[in-house]
Amino acid sequence: MKILLCLSIVLTALLAPAQHLVKQETFDAIATEYSGEAAQENTRRIVEYHRIQGSPMMASVAEQVVLPRLKAAGLEAKIEQFVSDGKTKYGTYTSPMGWDMRGGELWIESVAGAKDFKPIMLCRYTDVPMCVSTYSKGGEWSGELVDVGSGTSDTSYQNVDVRGKVALASGYAANVVREAVLRHGAAGVVIYPAAGDRPDHPDMVRYNGIWPRAEELEKTSGGFQISRNQYDMLKSLMRQGAVRVHGKIDATLGPGKLTLVHAYIRGTEHPEREVLITGHLDHPKWSANDNASGSGAMIEAARTLQTLIAAKKLPSPKLTIHFMWVPEYFGTMAYVSNHPELKFCNNFYQPAANDPPCILANINMDMVGEDTVKTNSRFYFTRTPDSVPFFINAIMNDVLGQTREASLYALTGTRNYWQPEAIPYAQGSDHDVFLGLGIPSTMLGHDPDWTHHTSEDKIDKTDASEFRRVGTFATAAVWFMATADPPAWKKVRTGAYADRVQELARRMAEDATIHRDSPNKGSLKNREELGDQSDYLESMAARGDVQAHTRGGQASTSGPRRLTLLPLDASVFDSAGPDDAKWLSEQEARFASDSEGLATRPNFALISFEAVNFMNGRRSTGEIADLLSAEYLVDIDQAWVDRLVNILEKQKLVAK
Ligand SMILES: [Zn+2]
Repeated sequence: MKILLCLSIVLTALLAPAQHLVKQETFDAIATEYSGEAAQENTRRIVEYHRIQGSPMMASVAEQVVLPRLKAAGLEAKIEQFVSDGKTKYGTYTSPMGWDMRGGELWIESVAGAKDFKPIMLCRYTDVPMCVSTYSKGGEWSGELVDVGSGTSDTSYQNVDVRGKVALASGYAANVVREAVLRHGAAGVVIYPAAGDRPDHPDMVRYNGIWPRAEELEKTSGGFQISRNQYDMLKSLMRQGAVRVHGKIDATLGPGKLTLVHAYIRGTEHPEREVLITGHLDHPKWSANDNASGSGAMIEAARTLQTLIAAKKLPSPKLTIHFMWVPEYFGTMAYVSNHPELKFCNNFYQPAANDPPCILANINMDMVGEDTVKTNSRFYFTRTPDSVPFFINAIMNDVLGQTREASLYALTGTRNYWQPEAIPYAQGSDHDVFLGLGIPSTMLGHDPDWTHHTSEDKIDKTDASEFRRVGTFATAAVWFMATADPPAWKKVRTGAYADRVQELARRMAEDATIHRDSPNKGSLKNREELGDQSDYLESMAARGDVQAHTRGGQASTSGPRRLTLLPLDASVFDSAGPDDAKWLSEQEARFASDSEGLATRPNFALISFEAVNFMNGRRSTGEIADLLSAEYLVDIDQAWVDRLVNILEKQKLVAK
């Protein structure tokens, strides 16, 4: 009965004429000021730079494009730098070395020793910047090509000798160089697309990096990427006899800096509380949607709000709006490592006078400007995992609905139909870091996208209309959170409970087919929480207030506590003993997602992230197992969580 009442409230809310969280007048002011063309033009400037994390080119784009545009718009803005030297760690991530890149070429110099062979060019950095593996060591080498398959494990080298030769491999460049060059003495590497990887685009080149650590500097080498068609040509030449290639790279690896840009619109009532909007500024030259688009869209968002405030069309916000352009993961990890005070704003809907500085929410923009027809893609925002408060989902849903209703296009953009979607938490960008601090965070992006991390992700794949829609959506959502008054937060909480009831009902329906005969503890947990959330929703509807947290799983026991930032770098498992390594690889296999883009099923990286994020010292491992089972509709028991805790405890990442 209770659930029926709840559903009727939800349905009434859905059917009622739109009463959006953001006042229509405010939304319209933002949508009118925000220019899709300006965001696209920012993007066009950014893609001229080879923006590699820790490199001087990253500092150049920050100093020459982002900062001047913010200052020209009248914003308070500054640059911040952190050490990046291939050995300093932020969380479990080792910062990359600085890489000063000037040029590179790869040629076929001979086939089967034929004297009259005319050299064939395979790569030239000035033509296709992505064809030189990033963080390649400068130098010149030549040798016979040896195809080693994936080239990422010892078995690839059992029957071939690559010493002094050039490894031709399909694995990720960093892993191939570690095996082929560091362990087996190859002179350099050439990376080709793995079988079945987007075979319908045979001329594009993929983005690959070598990521040497400081201690590998002496022995590391350089690499190149070739297209599927180039690989086919090489294979046919190799059938005629030995194929020798010649690589030449003009670059310097050494200590560098991670460069971040900040812009602030200071809050008038609670300047110490922030709504944080992030986007990674790095990636190879050309790379447009990933993520010059998010960076360009953020410059325009900051300009839009600053302009509207200066013109008195909008008041100054109550909380501070903080825009932050980062080197992906490394810059964000460095920033939060250097600001240990950063926490989620508890009692977010009722700030007290002397609250410590905090972050209310994070919106991370990564790949936001797609021409969805050209990239065969759709726009999404990610919902929160259960380990953090979920109110942001209701806000994003509501503002997204408002953005759809507005039917926004740019004058020079496409008329592509807009089909945005709210999707479960998916990993892979800087929102992960903030979620790992307990801060509600969402990623805005597009997926799938066949151009992702390839030489085809260029400015011609962007669309001013998409920039205008996504930019308006993000700006309006940020504005709402930075200005909401208590009655507005009450509306959010009603929406948040309603959203949670829907989510739990969805899980129960799906779970009923998975655990039909024997519901597990997770099934019961979802049922129990559905009851609680329904009560909150009813109380909100009846009295307009309720004393409860918008969060499931409040425990009062004691349990493991994590000691490091999330996410965990994969290298933390490198030193696991044979038993642990076996268990870890079984979990990788059990929870696998074979998607090319965002994971479509909960994989081990996601489940272990969430497990560790639940480890706040107040939940037992049994409780955490139940929460994971409830969230992902899988069978995870206490022994499973205990095992993970034991492995992480040995690395001093978790304390019991
Ligand atoms: Zn990205």
